[in-house]
Amino acid sequence: MTNIAFIGLGNMGNPMAANLVKAGLNVTGFDLVADNLEQAEANGLNIADSAVDAIRGAAVVITMLPAGKHVLSVYDNVLDPAEAGTLFIDCSTIDVDSARKAHELASESGMLSIDAPVSGGVGGAEAGTLTFMAGGSSEAFALAEPILDPMAGRIVHCGDGGAGQSAKICNNMILGISMIGVGEAFVLAEKLGLSHQALFDVASTSSGQCWSINTYCPVPGPVPTSPANNDYKPGFAAALMLKDLKLAQEAAQATGAVTPLGASAMQLYALFNATGEAGTDFSGIINFLRGQKTGQK
Ligand code: NAD
Repeated sequence: MTNIAFIGLGNMGNPMAANLVKAGLNVTGFDLVADNLEQAEANGLNIADSAVDAIRGAAVVITMLPAGKHVLSVYDNVLDPAEAGTLFIDCSTIDVDSARKAHELASESGMLSIDAPVSGGVGGAEAGTLTFMAGGSSEAFALAEPILDPMAGRIVHCGDGGAGQSAKICNNMILGISMIGVGEAFVLAEKLGLSHQALFDVASTSSGQCWSINTYCPVPGPVPTSPANNDYKPGFAAALMLKDLKLAQEAAQATGAVTPLGASAMQLYALFNATGEAGTDFSGIINFLRGQKTGQK
């Protein structure tokens, strides 16, 4: 049986690791938070006392951590004691530079590695339907694919090291911009006396169509499953959208890419977060555009 170490058992990591256990894999977990370890134990994981303890005897090390600095610090601790040839899979959403640095460190220690950030949120993590965007060598990807499979709806090999993170921030920059665009269109429609349903019926089937209106419509009614029908409970919290838009802007600055709408979207989400809406679904930005509060904490 493949032994897997899973480091970072938060909102995403815990249900992801639980799906690996359900698939019959032997998973040893570590997190800094005692409650998360308790939950992991209830989900059938073995619990380790430290990251180093978790990776002993593991053929695969998965990390699901908040940011690049956490990933690099865990890699610093565990690369030396890990067995050569261990596969490192980082599923966290982190900046592209840190992701490339993590690949470099892994390679220098004789390890295989991929960056494999996800989309699909906690719901996708629980259901085992996440989309994985992977970057790394074909050899590492081939080994990683069957491990990711129990947690995945779709797995895309995007290219070399860092390509998964690049795909993730480009995708989420489109999402942030498009959600603001759709919100602005509904606010304008309201001022023009046009009903939400009429705008939806037209735009969702013509050239305005996109995921932000067709699947995740930011006003209650047209798409019953969208967070707008549930007081804008996330879903995908505004704080996480802001994180990803910041990562996109960091990458744009580092590479000289011109992304004026990405920059504006980041500023608008920063203002939205600053009004106490960090815990609101990101589609709640429509209320901010109206000058209203949503108020999810
Ligand atoms: P979270 O804060 O709930 O979990 C992160 C966990 O990492 C925490 O439990 C924390 O204790 C642990 N941790 C931090 N440093 C550690 C260390 N040195 N050793 C061991 N554990 C450590 O965050 P989350 O919502 O699970 O998100 C994890 C990653 O997934 C983030 O990069 C996030 O951007 C990304 N993501 C989240 C979502 C979502 O909807 N929550 C969706 C897609 C991607």
